[in-house]
Amino acid sequence: MGAIEIDAVSKVYDGGVCAVDAVELEVADGEFMVLVGPSGCGKSTLLRMIAGLEEVTHGAIRIGGRDVTRLQPPDRDIAMVFQNYALYPHMTVAENLAFGLRQRRTPKEEVARRVDEVSGMLGLEELMARKPVALSGGQRQRVAMGRALVREPAAFLMDEPLSNLDAKLRASMRGQLARLHERVGTTTVYVTHDQVEAMTLGQRVAVMRGGVLQQCDVPQELFRRP
Ligand code: ADP
Ligand code: ADP
Repeated sequence: MGAIEIDAVSKVYDGGVCAVDAVELEVADGEFMVLVGPSGCGKSTLLRMIAGLEEVTHGAIRIGGRDVTRLQPPDRDIAMVFQNYALYPHMTVAENLAFGLRQRRTPKEEVARRVDEVSGMLGLEELMARKPVALSGGQRQRVAMGRALVREPAAFLMDEPLSNLDAKLRASMRGQLARLHERVGTTTVYVTHDQVEAMTLGQRVAVMRGGVLQQCDVPQELFRRP
């Protein structure tokens, strides 16, 4: 568990594009924060800097009080889910869920306990013996979320995880995600360009435009002020 502190973080890409401009944002321990804004506003860049997939040009990032600004992704105690879930195709659902823990030499009983818990929360029990090719898009995305959460990371980062799904499935996944967060309480940053998704999922919503953080508030307060 851990709060995420984004302290005056900027990103200037080679070539001079300032994608993120001195963003200050604190995500509380256990909070579900949505980053929303139009395409190109810098939300993916900010998320990728929290993950360590993109270098920070200026500023600092702390997770659970620890300065992670210069740490590689595996050393940050985070888990990520992207739009294009990269499940391991030759492994079953159960093996996909267990893989990260096995690599970390987690004891067998502990792996079994956590995989059971996560598969129960995500309704994957009937699918454990299948390979990813035999799953629907929504099922695959649930496995990707399970694989991320089974490691009990300090922070859970998602970049447009539902945008490849059709509207009906997206709506159902929104409900599942909200329930999942209620149960695990992992500090979450969720990137989307979809306002409905932002307003229904976010405990707070951070609105970005042109690399700048414009507002950050609970959904019911967001569009009240000019
Ligand atoms: P969003 O996620 O809100 O769509 P991005 O963070 O992907 O926005 O992009 C923010 C800005 O940075 C855009 O102007 C984009 O073109 C630019 N950008 C993103 N990635 C790179 C990169 N690797 N090199 C140069 N410019 C980039
Ligand atoms: P492990 O469970 O062994 O930590 P991960 O599933 O987290 O492995 O993935 C390993 C690496 O691949 C990480 O750096 C992660 O950021 C990246 N990764 C995972 N899923 C995707 C994806 N869908 N698209 C792009 N990169 C991904």
